[in-house]
Amino acid sequence: MAQNSTRPVGRHFLQIPGPSPLPDRVMRAIDNPIIDHRGPEFAKLAKRCFDGIKTIFKTTNPVIIYTATGTGAWEAALVNTLSPGDRVLMAETGQFSSLWKKMAENLGLKPEFIPTDWRTGADPSAVEAYLRKDTNKEIKAVCVLHNETSTGCLTSIKDIRKAIDAAGHPALLMVDTISSLASADYRHDEWGVDVSVGGAQKGLMLPPGMSFNAVSDKALAANKTAKLPKSFFSWQEMINMGKQGFFPYTPATQMLYGLAVGIDMLHEEGLDNVFARHDRLGEATRRAARAWGLDILCKDPKFHSPTITAVLLPEGHNADQFRSLALEHFNISYGASFGPYAGKYFRIGHLGDINEGTLIGALGITEMALGVAGIPHKKGGVQAAMDYLVSTHTGAKRAAAE
Ligand SMILES: *Cc1c(COP(=O)(O)O)cnc(C)c1O
Repeated sequence: MAQNSTRPVGRHFLQIPGPSPLPDRVMRAIDNPIIDHRGPEFAKLAKRCFDGIKTIFKTTNPVIIYTATGTGAWEAALVNTLSPGDRVLMAETGQFSSLWKKMAENLGLKPEFIPTDWRTGADPSAVEAYLRKDTNKEIKAVCVLHNETSTGCLTSIKDIRKAIDAAGHPALLMVDTISSLASADYRHDEWGVDVSVGGAQKGLMLPPGMSFNAVSDKALAANKTAKLPKSFFSWQEMINMGKQGFFPYTPATQMLYGLAVGIDMLHEEGLDNVFARHDRLGEATRRAARAWGLDILCKDPKFHSPTITAVLLPEGHNADQFRSLALEHFNISYGASFGPYAGKYFRIGHLGDINEGTLIGALGITEMALGVAGIPHKKGGVQAAMDYLVSTHTGAKRAAAE
């Protein structure tokens, strides 16, 4: 944008880790006349969505679609399976795990935290040890985030499942996959997850306002005896009406148009290609940060998130000020910082409908903004990211083979 101009020129760089930018195709799909949500045309649309979303969670069981943000689906997971006073084990990985725990408390559950320093994912061996001590099997659920959006740490859900099994514990496994679904490999059935919580506005490339519960047979059985009060979020009526392609109340029709197309787009690209794209963009971002000489909040590579990278600024530099400066001068939005590291890092989201060009643009802006802000850093971050993207490009591999 022109210096000293008050009008932001060109497109806004929305680099927060959700909501992510809407693809034009999704926007056009949403831009449709409203239809009767009790009519035959709606039932066809809903069935497309109910069938399609199963392929994203990789489950053969029903997936419940809520007209609510991800926070609503968090609540749905808890109230549909648990009873007042139930003990729940949660892994403290950052801000979002803390919010889910607070919600559990508000609902009358007894959540317990396995703490971390907010720089790693959940530790399966700590989960196993905790469950082994629960000899009376009082803990009713283990709740973990697949991707902790506030820190950029991804937890291996397969390993958490193994830990619960190794402890021989019957607790339900509930996983928040809001900022990883449709960006990182996720397998609800194969990994033995009982309730998966998803959201629309991150990897699924939709506007905010829709969320999901994928469920296991064990979760459906728990639902029959769960005593926490529920009404809007109650699974049973949603599942029953869903079989006919309907909802108990007026759903977000326009969002369903978007969802159907978003799912089509993911399958046209191929889910494995979607995951590989996010992996590459994540690694390119981390290479840029390292070349700048800046630390990545997620300190162990085994937890690095493919959808968001949290970058620490040097001591004495305020990340919130950096974010407002970058917004003012370069029309870019980054994610904020939380908890013990509030003000110390900013987050670059690299999820959803994002390609190499968008990422390099965002990293280029970031390098310029670091310069304008007078934050000590080395040059060459963008170059390091480009070098990595070129060396791992399928085009480069093909050219080498010829
Ligand atoms: C975004 C997010 C949430 C909250 O979802 P809302 O749609 O804002 O209610 C919860 N958990 C994780 C991991 C998230 O990234």
